[in-house]
Amino acid sequence: MNIKKGDNVYILSGKDRGKTSKVVKVLPKSLGVVVEGVNIHVRHMRPRKAGERGQKLSIAAPIHTSNVMLVCASCKKPARTRNVRKNDSVARVCVKCGAVADSISVTTS
Ligand SMILES: [Zn+2]
Repeated sequence: MNIKKGDNVYILSGKDRGKTSKVVKVLPKSLGVVVEGVNIHVRHMRPRKAGERGQKLSIAAPIHTSNVMLVCASCKKPARTRNVRKNDSVARVCVKCGAVADSISVTTS
């Protein structure tokens, strides 16, 4: 999975296609990501106590990682990433401009 929490992503499909927003949660098991303001579902809550009103809660539902693309921090374009290995770390590199998005240190023993 090449998307992480805090990444800016471009939405490729669904009703929010074309939007750019921030990843708030990553669900590695289901390859899902929850993106701020994207795939909003309205949950209707019944009143719990007498006199209380029901509510509509807007909740962002997860979307599949294949439907988002990382937005490069340096060229500001949605781009694929390539994993480049340097010594003991793996860097996510933007395919378009070659900027390093971040690098993760991998300890090989
Ligand atoms: Zn770039």
